[in-house]
Amino acid sequence: MDRQTVIWQVPQGVYDDGEALAVTPEILEAANVLREGGLVAFPTETVYGLGANGLDASAVDSIFIAKGRPSDNPLILHIADLADLDQIVARLPARAACLAEVFWPGPLTLVLPKTKIVPMTTTGGLDTVAVRMPAHPVALALIRATGVPLAAPSANVSGRPSPTRAEHVANDLMGKIDVILDGGPTGIGVESTVVDCTGLTPIILRPGGVSKEDLEQAVGGPVELISHQAAEDLLDGPAPSPGMKYRHYAPKAPALLVTGEPPRLFDQLATMARDLVAKGEQVGLMVSREAVEYWQEQSIDTTSWQIICMGSRGDLKEIAANIYGGLRDLDNTTVTRILLESVPKSGLGLAIMNRLAKAAGSRIVGQ
Ligand code: AMP
Ligand code: MG
Repeated sequence: MDRQTVIWQVPQGVYDDGEALAVTPEILEAANVLREGGLVAFPTETVYGLGANGLDASAVDSIFIAKGRPSDNPLILHIADLADLDQIVARLPARAACLAEVFWPGPLTLVLPKTKIVPMTTTGGLDTVAVRMPAHPVALALIRATGVPLAAPSANVSGRPSPTRAEHVANDLMGKIDVILDGGPTGIGVESTVVDCTGLTPIILRPGGVSKEDLEQAVGGPVELISHQAAEDLLDGPAPSPGMKYRHYAPKAPALLVTGEPPRLFDQLATMARDLVAKGEQVGLMVSREAVEYWQEQSIDTTSWQIICMGSRGDLKEIAANIYGGLRDLDNTTVTRILLESVPKSGLGLAIMNRLAKAAGSRIVGQ
């Protein structure tokens, strides 16, 4: 069904403890839209979310329709206060309480047993629910003004790179949702870390804004990362994190993720780009500032390549913030093949590599 999408400006800014939460007339009006079952895209500290009343099955259903999202890919419920947990979570294991205490508000999603009040539509038919408290003043103000947990996946068409700017949301969802709250670029740029807290050991189902190392320090013990094999098994079997089995973050042209260590990595990217150009392809590369500088020093001719700089290898936060925008920028060019530079998999690098590998449809080459 067509909708008249309006775009409203809201305050920009990052969450800061003790900061008065911005409640503007636009946020109050957006909360009304949500209470009436409508769809509102809003900024969070990770990416833009597409919100609906998470306890209203038909409102939630319209999220799946607007995004073209498979209905068995469950949504995350966003809350603004710890007290909001009681109505949606049946049991809060001690480790989960500890993680919430340390990382909320922040880019961490906890998978917990759900209560009856949470519709199966929200959880994709599972008896667990994913919950997080976002660290963004607009998101928190919107949730509080609405008075219900908001189901909010990323505000993009399913399969496309996630939106880190309001214009990305508009490009994907204009005419399909009711409101876009434009709060400027998001800070972190990759989604939350999803942790299954229903068993004895917490398991990372999706790496994200909070690193494995930080989680382990907080719980004072091991945190597992769901294995590659377990992820593969999702293609047929029951899914611990159903989202893992779907195509994600994909640019329009086929992409390849190139792994290795600089400077050999930079040489390999250059060789592959040259070979592709020789075959008549138009090549786009999303690479580090160091790669670009290296090619300059080596007098490598890059004039026929479309280069997107994702930031410095020494600053993974910068890279995380730029990868989705970079993939979308490549979509706005005429490139026919894309090469992506890898980063080390520690800290935020694990989440970045997870997204780049998915953008490449798991086509990975290198040492
Ligand atoms: P998105 O909101 O699109 O960034 O994706 C939410 C992620 O959380 C997906 O990978 C989902 O599969 C995962 N997720 C949501 N709810 C659950 C749940 N109850 N159990 C396991 N994974 C979940
Ligand atoms: Mg998403």
